[in-house]
Amino acid sequence: SRRGLIKRGKTVCTFCGTGCSFEVWVRGREVLKVEPRPESPVNGLGTCVKGKFGYSFVNSNERLTKPLIRQGHEFREASWEEALDLVARKLREIRDKYGPDSVGVIASCTSTNEEVYLTQKFARQVIGTNNVDNCARYCQSPATTGLLRTVGYGADSGSIHDMECADLLILIGTNTAEAHPVIASRIKRAKKHGNLRLVVVDVRMHEMAERADLFLTPRVGTDLVLINGVARYILERGWEDRKFVEERTENFQEYVKSLEPYNLQYVEEVTGIPKEKIITLAEMIHESRNVAVAWAMGVTQHQDGSETSTAISNLLLLTGNYGRPCCGAFPLRGHANVQGAGDVGGLPNFLPGYQSLNDPEVIKKFEEAWGIKLPRKPGLTSTEMVDKTLTGELKAMYIIGEDKVMADADQGRVREALSKLEFLVVQDLFLTETAKLAHVILPACSSLEKEGTFTNTERRIQRLYRVLDPLPGCKTDMEILQELAKLMGFNWDYSGPEEVMREISRLSPIHAGVTYQRLENFGSLQWPVTEDGQDSPYLYRDRFPFPDGRARFYPTTLIEPRSTGEKYDLYLVNGRLLEHFHWTNQTGRTPLKRKVPETFLEVSPQLAKERGWREGDVVLVESPVGRLRTRILITGRVSGNRVFLSIHGQGDSAVNLVTEDIRDPTSKTPAYKEVPVRVEKL
Ligand code: SF4
Repeated sequence: SRRGLIKRGKTVCTFCGTGCSFEVWVRGREVLKVEPRPESPVNGLGTCVKGKFGYSFVNSNERLTKPLIRQGHEFREASWEEALDLVARKLREIRDKYGPDSVGVIASCTSTNEEVYLTQKFARQVIGTNNVDNCARYCQSPATTGLLRTVGYGADSGSIHDMECADLLILIGTNTAEAHPVIASRIKRAKKHGNLRLVVVDVRMHEMAERADLFLTPRVGTDLVLINGVARYILERGWEDRKFVEERTENFQEYVKSLEPYNLQYVEEVTGIPKEKIITLAEMIHESRNVAVAWAMGVTQHQDGSETSTAISNLLLLTGNYGRPCCGAFPLRGHANVQGAGDVGGLPNFLPGYQSLNDPEVIKKFEEAWGIKLPRKPGLTSTEMVDKTLTGELKAMYIIGEDKVMADADQGRVREALSKLEFLVVQDLFLTETAKLAHVILPACSSLEKEGTFTNTERRIQRLYRVLDPLPGCKTDMEILQELAKLMGFNWDYSGPEEVMREISRLSPIHAGVTYQRLENFGSLQWPVTEDGQDSPYLYRDRFPFPDGRARFYPTTLIEPRSTGEKYDLYLVNGRLLEHFHWTNQTGRTPLKRKVPETFLEVSPQLAKERGWREGDVVLVESPVGRLRTRILITGRVSGNRVFLSIHGQGDSAVNLVTEDIRDPTSKTPAYKEVPVRVEKL
């Protein structure tokens, strides 16, 4: 045609951890259509609306196309040369003046594995600090903690298929139909056509809850008590898998002892779930040969997120539901590449492949490969970086693809912190709220404009091909990092992402056999991958990755959730909607914006009646740290003193205006889901 040739290329969706892949048809820069292919290992011929209609943001005229340098309260355009020189100079100055640990680096979960690997290498080799983290800190770090404690790998123990072929699937704190829509479709299909029974544990009625054989609504923040209560009941009845426990686990007696307080009476009192239903859940587990449990932010974004994740894994060990197909643990990853970002070392306490900072052999390997003395002290988490900025210990941050002002709890606090930095570099597609606070902004490429790999929630590594040329003026994260490393005295000379992947597979045993050739087109591999290319659809068949090969029961600690009181008398529950991704920086610049243009507060008919609220009323939602504005939506999806708001609001309806900075003490993940508020009609 006169308007140019139509081209198509394969990519992996950037909007959630399901990891759908498809071909994208383009003409020039125009995205014509998204076409899933039968050979896609995850989604076959399906996608959700985000994958299908969520890509026109790549041509938004609000894309950043020139580096920007702060001048007073304004920004001025600059050349790449000037901007990168300034970044290199300032980072070097601050590192030399205050030490390497005065710098923090945030890796992006929408960057490729290769780019995140280079991000953490930049932090560790070029700056000399372990202060590197990624957005798993906001979501699934507690799940990783729970699984590392008990079974040894912080990842899904099986594949999405194992949730389909289980006899019983328990979904806890996951609104799967909106947050991981293609996984939800697969579960719904399996339930309709197979033997799958479904239990949903959630504080809000949603599509999966409507389809459940058993739906339980515990009080906010009491999942741990429910799970331990079920475990204790199973033990009382002698329904545990004795053989599995004896042959494959440690610490059983300590675990049994830790369950003593969780009798049915106590569990009913704390959770508000009648004893009979607790018994029904235990019976359903007992009757099922294969049990899988999937969970998401409804579990992890609590003060006891790590503890509850541990309790889930303990329950699976107790009932022998690890180490074979059709069962296991499935913490559903939120971002496209949040699993991969941790796998390749974007974490303050692990080197690539979850290798320990305390293992002399590992240290030696990396020191030889990178030609430096590795920093040994574990770094700061993303949330701790905010604390240390406020105390003046952290002086500079380099933030890639993360809108931290919108993502952290207590927006006012994070704004104050980032404003105090001596130097802030932000690398992103748009002038985000975080970018507005930066000293230098670097315009980056979208996932359609680069090559590399993503790893989805089931540890599946897949290739992205360059579908569009970079928007003129933008560079990929890899190009930017490579140029900065060179300017700071390190001769990074990778010919492309494939060479980076070769380095990853040399240094990270779980990636040993990952090659671009094996991943060609719709090919994929689930880690750990042995050198000869054998991958792992499920883990722990023969051994758990502890020195003695045995899993560990890990007794949990009870942490009281935040309770409502006289002033803040309602519980704000929050989460995703199908149509949007985060604070709509991307989906808000697509036709999806029109589908859900603004946020609304879901309240029950009874609450609306009591308070005299009508649909569409504008209300203020207030917590001890701030207030936001939104509109009332009356719905049967919430009940009691719970109200629900999506996380997608911007401006004065952003949810993190009211989320307090209270954290899970182990993973440092904010307890976004424990927010007592008051609501007032305007
Ligand atoms: Fe993309 Fe997730 Fe939707 Fe698949 S389910 S198309 S990965 S947003």
